[in-house]
Amino acid sequence: MSSILETYARKNISFDKGKGCYLFTENGEKYLDFVQGIATNILGHCHDHLVSTIEKQSKKLWHVSNAYIIKDQERLAKRLTENTFADFVCFQNSGTEATEASIKIARKYFHKIGKPQKNRIITFKGAFHGRTLAALFAANNPKHTEGFGPKVEGFDQVTFADHEAIKKTINENTAAIMVETIMGEGGIKIIPDFCLKGLRELCDQHELLLILDEVQSAYRTGNFFAFEKSGISPDIVPIAKGIGGGFPLGACLVTKKVSVGMTPGTHGSTFGGNPLAMAVGNAVLDVILKKNFLKAVKEKGKYLDNNLNKIKEKYPKIISEIRGEGLIKGLKLKVDNNQFIEKLMKYKMLTVKAEENVVRLFPPLIVENKEIDEAIEKIQLVCSEIS
Ligand SMILES: *Cc1c(COP(=O)(O)O)cnc(C)c1O
Repeated sequence: MSSILETYARKNISFDKGKGCYLFTENGEKYLDFVQGIATNILGHCHDHLVSTIEKQSKKLWHVSNAYIIKDQERLAKRLTENTFADFVCFQNSGTEATEASIKIARKYFHKIGKPQKNRIITFKGAFHGRTLAALFAANNPKHTEGFGPKVEGFDQVTFADHEAIKKTINENTAAIMVETIMGEGGIKIIPDFCLKGLRELCDQHELLLILDEVQSAYRTGNFFAFEKSGISPDIVPIAKGIGGGFPLGACLVTKKVSVGMTPGTHGSTFGGNPLAMAVGNAVLDVILKKNFLKAVKEKGKYLDNNLNKIKEKYPKIISEIRGEGLIKGLKLKVDNNQFIEKLMKYKMLTVKAEENVVRLFPPLIVENKEIDEAIEKIQLVCSEIS
């Protein structure tokens, strides 16, 4: 019997090494990994630059308290702000901490400017913001919240894409709208540009902050952030997953205006932003910021998209929709997604499910067309087996 608290439905398989797009079991079986730790190993397994960075840093310094200046933290924050809308960054260790920090920063802002009554946040059905209590009740998915009451107050939920409902829900107590730019766990649902613009306008009209949760989508679409192509600018953006390339790392990005309430002592994290994590975060950025790297992500995303659409056209009774952008993709199926994932595993390919009967594909950003071809071939095999 395992001594691990059984909070996961694990598949009966264990891996002991990984390289790039591939994972290997103890007896050497090779799997094409399009899960990558759920959108986390953004540069694939054991990327050379990350390995050498960790090796070097592990001999220099692992952890010091945020009571001292951490040079690599300064550097990563500078690079994140130079490349985005943000003026300041606070580092965390996970996505849920980053969304919690976002909620705290939004409330503290209105408190600071003398409007403490503005403390409620509008969120969306089907959202996922993490598993700490506020993040749980922000998303308010009954599958996740059951038994964990009392409910954390301060969230008003509306249906995804229902602009009228959002308008009706806004009142004098509303502080912010919080939403994933691409709803990940909810089924890889993209908020179209015109809706993002609409949300920004609503926020401006009613003095609300716009929080865009990019924990799953950051770096993945071929832009730094998924919202960028809409042209709008949010106020607060939590990120995590891919930004550490597999090392636990989260961050909350904010504008100068919104940061005013966050003074010394208002927030903290023992591990957040420690030297080891910062070395890795910087190393991930070294690769992401290389000239044409993100452009290549866009191109690979299109290549994957075109090929997935061909399969969809050939098997309209199996695949109903190809969702996503860049290298964050979802196949909405007409057959059971769990079964589809099991069958792909038989062909030695790993994928992960989402709501709305979706199978998610998270190839690492270093994926090459030949590995995309391999994935397409395996998906095709499963489709032909089912039909
Ligand atoms: C995964 C995820 C989170 C939570 O991240 P953890 O690191 O698991 O705490 C929050 N928001 C979104 C959009 C996510 O996909």
